[in-house]
Amino acid sequence: MTADCLFCKIVAGNIPATTIYEDDDVIVFNDIKPMAKVHFLIVPKLHLDSLKSCDVSHQQLLGKMLLLAPKLAAEQGLQGFKTLINTGREGGQEVFHIHVHVFGGGLPNT
Ligand code: 5GP
Ligand code: ZN
Repeated sequence: MTADCLFCKIVAGNIPATTIYEDDDVIVFNDIKPMAKVHFLIVPKLHLDSLKSCDVSHQQLLGKMLLLAPKLAAEQGLQGFKTLINTGREGGQEVFHIHVHVFGGGLPNT
């Protein structure tokens, strides 16, 4: 846990979120400002700033996050979906705890 990280606070249960899935490694919750009918974030419990902070030791975790996308999208009633990982401020990242966006049911403009 990184003390001033918003998503670490959600992982710790210190900030509420609408959680749709959780296990030992990952938490998945709805985005607070959804850009589509369905918009959730797949977040590892381990604090990693961004994809730039990942190495081969995170391969399994990253794979697990990606494989959760179709499973959870189907559970949310989606036939198809869009995924997005923003990396770095210039890449549109605002929360520096890595996460995969999943959008569906009306796709975002950005
Ligand atoms: P980024 O731009 O870093 O890829 O995406 C960060 C996302 O986190 C944004 O879509 C934003 O709406 C979402 N977000 C920011 N603060 C909160 C929060 O407190 N709770 C939830 N559930 N989502 C948040
Ligand atoms: Zn964090």
